[in-house]
Amino acid sequence: MISIAIDGPSGAGKSTIARMVAGRLGYLYVDTGALYRTIALFFLRHGVDVEDGAAVGQALGQIQVELRYRDGEQQVFLNGENVNGEIRGDDISQMAAAVSPLPVVREFLLGLQRDMAKKDNVVMDGRDIGTVVLPEAQVKIYLTASAVQRAKRRCDEYRAKGIACDYEELLNSVMERDLKDTTRAISPLRQAEDAELIDTTYNTLEESVNLITDYVTRKIASLG
Ligand code: C5P
Repeated sequence: MISIAIDGPSGAGKSTIARMVAGRLGYLYVDTGALYRTIALFFLRHGVDVEDGAAVGQALGQIQVELRYRDGEQQVFLNGENVNGEIRGDDISQMAAAVSPLPVVREFLLGLQRDMAKKDNVVMDGRDIGTVVLPEAQVKIYLTASAVQRAKRRCDEYRAKGIACDYEELLNSVMERDLKDTTRAISPLRQAEDAELIDTTYNTLEESVNLITDYVTRKIASLG
């Protein structure tokens, strides 16, 4: 099996790019952020306090997360309920960044992520895929863009969906999440030593997808 790990901060275009690269290669796209978001959704729904270790442990005992694919699109299920439409709000983003530093949460999701890569060729995106989840991935990419550009893109996305967007607030939220993701003790966001750094600040989406598909294709060909 071939695994392509794409890590980087939120809003660098990871999920859109990873999905398109996976489509071109005929690989399965695995969005691991959706798993953390699903845990966050459960915690928000049930008022679980992330500071309370016993409550967190108890909550995880009641959670079953599953990934299924419909027309090639990943769907995430929480205890049998398709929650794909529920996990994209900013409240969930903030909660996901709060639950993801917890070692029990990371441990809880590790096996699921590794199993996906055992069964299929995958393009998997996240924060620690190249460093922790799939350290043996044949191709690793660290995708980034300036915080200003990332906030701007997210704002454009919201506006395109008709959702009002406060740019300053979004920029703060992006920077706050970067800080949380890069400074946490367990599996912090960082570039793996053998990962290719790709900065998309000045690229269009299509340029990034072409660049990465070319890089991945060359890299896979060199594996022989
Ligand atoms: O990528 P996305 O924004 O959906 O991720 C939501 C949150 O989940 C991130 O802020 C990050 O804290 C966490 N995450 C993680 N490790 C991953 C994927 C996501 O810690 N592999």
